Amino acid sequence: MEASRRRTRNGANGKTSEQQPAQWGRAWEVDWFSLISVIGLLCFAPFIVFYFVMACDQYQCSVSQPLLDLFRGDTTLLSIWARAPSFTWSAAKIYTIWVAFQLFLYMCVPDVTHKFIPGYVGGVQDGARTPAGLINKYEINGLQCWLITHALWYANAQHFHWFPPTIIFDHWIPLMWCANILGYAVSSFAFIKAYLFPTNSEDCKFTGNVFYNYMMGIEFNPRVGKWFDFKLFFNGRPGIVAWTLINLSYMAKQQELYGHVTNSMVLVNVLQAIYVLDFFWNEAWYLKTIDICHDHFGWYLGWGDCVWLPYLYTLQGLYLVYHPVQLSTPHALAVLLLGLVGYYIFRSTNHQKDLFRRTEGSCSIWGRKPVYIECSYRSADGGVHRSKLMTSGFWGVARHLNYTGDLMGSLAYCAACGFGHVLPYFYIVYMTILLVHRCVRDEHRCGSKYGKDWKRYTDAVPYRLVPGLF
Ligand code: NDP
Repeated sequence: MEASRRRTRNGANGKTSEQQPAQWGRAWEVDWFSLISVIGLLCFAPFIVFYFVMACDQYQCSVSQPLLDLFRGDTTLLSIWARAPSFTWSAAKIYTIWVAFQLFLYMCVPDVTHKFIPGYVGGVQDGARTPAGLINKYEINGLQCWLITHALWYANAQHFHWFPPTIIFDHWIPLMWCANILGYAVSSFAFIKAYLFPTNSEDCKFTGNVFYNYMMGIEFNPRVGKWFDFKLFFNGRPGIVAWTLINLSYMAKQQELYGHVTNSMVLVNVLQAIYVLDFFWNEAWYLKTIDICHDHFGWYLGWGDCVWLPYLYTLQGLYLVYHPVQLSTPHALAVLLLGLVGYYIFRSTNHQKDLFRRTEGSCSIWGRKPVYIECSYRSADGGVHRSKLMTSGFWGVARHLNYTGDLMGSLAYCAACGFGHVLPYFYIVYMTILLVHRCVRDEHRCGSKYGKDWKRYTDAVPYRLVPGLF
């Protein structure tokens, strides 16, 4: 029974899994809990996005009011739906131009930034070794694309006036339908492509469950041609380049509606812009993160990057358009401090691992030679490889202090919105679930990859996120 089940999973590469050595990537098995979660997310995630955006549009960002109105019979699902702005061709035009422009920048603009900015790593870079033993090459030009896009946005707002800077806010819900069309189209294309013409069949995973395959993806690093990498493009642009533009559009809307911009809106824009710029400054490092090294490309990344990220990561700015909160100076300073300390921990932890891995341990961490555990693992091509797990610096304090710093920053964005409504706090709740789940997933994967060496590491560094607590 197990053997025949495994044979159904071989899919496109034509090999049974008995012919393949054990892999340490994503699971082959789908347990009931994972399956229920996957189906639940496929069904409910689009409604969650719609609910939050609709609550701002129709109920001044109250999360409970639509439910209370429905419960009391003061409204119906149909009337909520009828009041929501529908798809428009002008939104479709804006969205098509946006995606096409980002595609053009991604494919056609060779990176020159790294020649002029000391310390910035751009141009052609290696990814991490895939479970099948491949090392992909990537053209890193995200920082340059971000700079060009924002320079054009600024030039338009100050001089050209081709479109109003509130354009994104003004078309927010119609744009959401367009983002959904792209998200579903990309995920479905990636799903079909995995069966018909996978980029690297050795790195495909077929679980035998269609929902799980669609959601979590089959192909590891799907590409079209040599350079169009689905993961790198869809996660970074249009998703993350858009993040700062969306916030700028909210800021412009506040100015238009109230004649001034609140300090909370400035804080949200500044703290999130630091996070976004950090992402592009370190795009080469991003190649070594779980998104690229572990996750396969399915609906989770395809739809998530097109819809979930731009719509839910920007809820604070949207909320502040409806509720222009002016924070007291101590409150604003506390938020700024929390955001900056969180960012410092997040960045330094990530930097320490990157430096340690790049120099293979020949570096200085907190003024000393790093301490580490030597470990080995096997890839699907049968090769045995060596690696190191650092047990000093931030990586000796807890096993994922980068997540802790990220969570502190996320809390700062939410706290910038004051305490009037729960809606802006959705982000910290979501990030906590995401990063705790990610931590557990990553540890499961590292356990299967490194075996007893991973156990030695967890014995040396017993806590995950908060020393003494978790
Ligand atoms: P990490 O950057 O923490 O990478 C985990 C990997 O690092 C492990 O799989 C292992 O990989 C390696 N590793 C683990 N422990 C050690 C060690 N002690 N020494 C050296 N290497 C080690 O995880 P992510 O990719 O998830 O996160 C990257 C950043 O992105 C985080 O800061 C996170 O907060 C952020 N993030 C943000 C999200 C958002 O939506 N805002 C979403 C997800 C992440 P190997 O197999 O190479 O050994």
